[in-house]
Amino acid sequence: MATKLLLEHINVPGIETYEVYRSKGGYRAVEKALKTMSPDDVMEEVKKSGLRGRGGAGFPTGMKWSFLDRKSNNPRYLVCNADESEPGTFKDRYLMEKNPHILIEGLIVSSYSLGSNSTYIYIRGEYKWIVGILEKAIAEAKNAGFLGKNILGSGFDLEIYVNNGGGAYICGEETALIESLEGKRGNPRIKPPFPAISGLYNCPTVVNNVETLATVTPIINMGGDEYAKLGIGKSTGTKLISACGHLNRPGVYEIDLGLPVDEFLNSDEYCGGIRKGHELKAVIAGGSSVPILPAELFMRNAAGEARLMSYESLSDGGFATGTMLGSGGFIAMDETTCIVHNTWTLARFYHHESCGQCSPCREGTGWMEKVLHRLEFGHGHMHDIDLLVEIASKIEGNTICPLGDAAAWPVAAAIRHFRDEFEYHVTHASLVKDSRKAHLP
Ligand code: NAD
Ligand code: SF4
Repeated sequence: MATKLLLEHINVPGIETYEVYRSKGGYRAVEKALKTMSPDDVMEEVKKSGLRGRGGAGFPTGMKWSFLDRKSNNPRYLVCNADESEPGTFKDRYLMEKNPHILIEGLIVSSYSLGSNSTYIYIRGEYKWIVGILEKAIAEAKNAGFLGKNILGSGFDLEIYVNNGGGAYICGEETALIESLEGKRGNPRIKPPFPAISGLYNCPTVVNNVETLATVTPIINMGGDEYAKLGIGKSTGTKLISACGHLNRPGVYEIDLGLPVDEFLNSDEYCGGIRKGHELKAVIAGGSSVPILPAELFMRNAAGEARLMSYESLSDGGFATGTMLGSGGFIAMDETTCIVHNTWTLARFYHHESCGQCSPCREGTGWMEKVLHRLEFGHGHMHDIDLLVEIASKIEGNTICPLGDAAAWPVAAAIRHFRDEFEYHVTHASLVKDSRKAHLP
């Protein structure tokens, strides 16, 4: 039976209200932390839990918190990254919309541990309607004495502010987010210095994803050691996965990390298999920024060993057979999917969203889009395929922020695993031209 920590009460009518959330044991973690634990005790529990960043990078949360410059005389900030924009990823939206208080509770406990008296939720521009949901939850928590001055007599003060972004994907990158929060254009900064040393207004700052911060609530309730017993190896705990594509049951699921991929795909508890009469062809396992892999690489090997939904198992084999758990945006594609079309669509997206600061990304994403457009619409040449691989290799590792890699990897992986489809678009150009006429932009 799957463990439900974040989604346990998700279908309880009224759980988005303070009264119902409280009646289900809500704000116990705040009471426990502020009345019985020191800020360092809280951080110790988070470290023990093995929690890793749920936005995509999987960086150990406790370690990130320990990097925060506590010697600085400047204020410290916690910023919640709710700029969920990765194609295929919609788990934070679901959580904030349905159970905002679990996030607010996690924010209060985390702010207490980090010493942040002003905490910000930076939410993507397109999630406008959730701003009201969060602000209502913040007002309710304040009314109940869990925000404001001297919370629960602990001497700790906290205000939480919600900031709506302008609709740029790049503002999900933590330093671009900080720039945007400061009222500037959302251009990523060069790291180091990391935000833990110099972040918002050049002050020590921790930026964590929505799911990461919401997970601090059950960690404090159950204790870090208990949380660490869930999951597998260094992939501890549970993870929200947003599943979409050609599935019978798309949606947001909470899984125990280590769940076999084939079970996640086929069990009626989760995705319920591929739509009737069709077969799985390819999967993007962790949001559009991670390499696409053919279906067989997610299936059991000859010895019956399963590929697991974990940070380690999904990346097994490096670039040859590996991908990443990433943000948990699981996109399943059946045999009706044209990989060339899919890759072109993603390349358009990354070109459009590049902030333009560094040449390899600004120019490279544009070239990739153009070359893929040629191939997609039947005007390509065989050498275009290797040209794409070369452009991707020139972008990878040569940019200020990970958007460059995120644009390069899907193209390189698609060609590595589905080269025959790119070649088909060249050898059957007139057929491709005819079939694409109706879709010409
Ligand atoms: P990263 O690996 O550069 O950093 C991870 C975190 O650890 C950052 O907060 C960083 O500040 C911190 N960190 C790393 N080394 C540090 C050090 N030495 N000292 C202090 N802090 C340190 O990755 P990233 O740029 O934060 O994220 C990239 C990931 O984001 C991608 O893998 C992708 O999956 C994901 N992503 C998610 C979305 C989404 O909508 N959820 C969108 C785009 C990309
Ligand atoms: Fe901007 Fe792209 Fe450079 Fe990131 S990699 S800073 S998005 S140009």
